[in-house]
Amino acid sequence: MIAPAYTQFLEWVERRAAGEPLAYLVGEAEFRGRVFQVSPDVLIPRPETEVLIELALKKLHGVAAPRILDLGTGSGIVAISLALECPTAQITAVDLSFEAISVARNNAGRLGATVDFRQSDWFENLAGETFDLIVSNPPYVANGDPHLELNGLPFEPQMALTDGADGLNCIRRIVAGAAAHLTPAGWLLFEHGYDQGEASRNLLTTAAFKAAFTHPDLAGIDRVSGAYL
Ligand code: GLN
Repeated sequence: MIAPAYTQFLEWVERRAAGEPLAYLVGEAEFRGRVFQVSPDVLIPRPETEVLIELALKKLHGVAAPRILDLGTGSGIVAISLALECPTAQITAVDLSFEAISVARNNAGRLGATVDFRQSDWFENLAGETFDLIVSNPPYVANGDPHLELNGLPFEPQMALTDGADGLNCIRRIVAGAAAHLTPAGWLLFEHGYDQGEASRNLLTTAAFKAAFTHPDLAGIDRVSGAYL
């Protein structure tokens, strides 16, 4: 008789050999020292997203009980990390995908984080609500970018990776909508592609944000831009 674990192992080897990321085989991935459950409905956590967390924590320094919004939360890594590392914060996190929201809620429960998860197309279901900080890791890979065919990306939700256009569409929507949802001097911080720093700063400045900056990830690549109102 063949042991079930061995059968499972052989199945994983086959799927891995076909390019499926390990995180989807085992159903979990690590981010910032915590284990998050993932399914093919959500992007697999990337270490470069830690830059977004670090910058957010810096901007929150000195704000007593900050209200934070995470747009396009996916598995919830950004919202949950901030909830656990800034315990006084009140965090709302949205995603277009109901499936992603369910993965994120489960992760928050397992990790003991309190986050108000809601389904929303960016700011659509947030009318009248304001925040001290808005963060996002939106889809920013351009349609047809050869990168989408590599490194297991075909197995990930395309709606979490690409805007189906030039890669800046979602960033444009986030920048355009943020002003109505930020408190005075509130910060907007978002992750973007290696070549989108300048375009991101231009979008922010044109939308009347101040002190637009771009920060590199640990590999020295432009990764997060931000500005305040
Ligand atoms: N950094 C990811 C990649 O290039 C893309 C993540 C995203 O679109 N938000 O694989």
